[in-house]
Amino acid sequence: MNKIEHIGVAVKDLEKSNIIFASLFGKSHYKIEEVESEGVKTSFFKTGPNKIELLQATNPDSPIAKFIDKKGEGIHHIAFAVEDIKTEIARLKNEGFIVLNEVPKKGADNKLIAFLHPKSTNGVLIELCQEISTKTND
Ligand code: ZN
Repeated sequence: MNKIEHIGVAVKDLEKSNIIFASLFGKSHYKIEEVESEGVKTSFFKTGPNKIELLQATNPDSPIAKFIDKKGEGIHHIAFAVEDIKTEIARLKNEGFIVLNEVPKKGADNKLIAFLHPKSTNGVLIELCQEISTKTND
């Protein structure tokens, strides 16, 4: 596992939170992306080497809606960059972690992602993410 790729923050109202985080960092988000399969709308901020992902639910069954119901707004997950997500999933399963996505799925920001169940990581939802190569063979 490599560096922290981003920190995910669950928010109720993405528009309002975009304003708050823009004044916090002194610059606007650089991207908004909806991941329909996950029931989330996300926005991304960069500050120095750090990246923050804000997540708002787009339907009541979204994992983000459930999280906010239970715990309120706040830090939702920490994402770590990995070079080879399939190898890392196999390694972590072997170590006894509960992997929620044994087959990595397409996440926001051009990434393949998989989550570890917080039950196996002291209550911290961990996301693994691998950059999807955009290189073409031409
Ligand atoms: Zn994330």
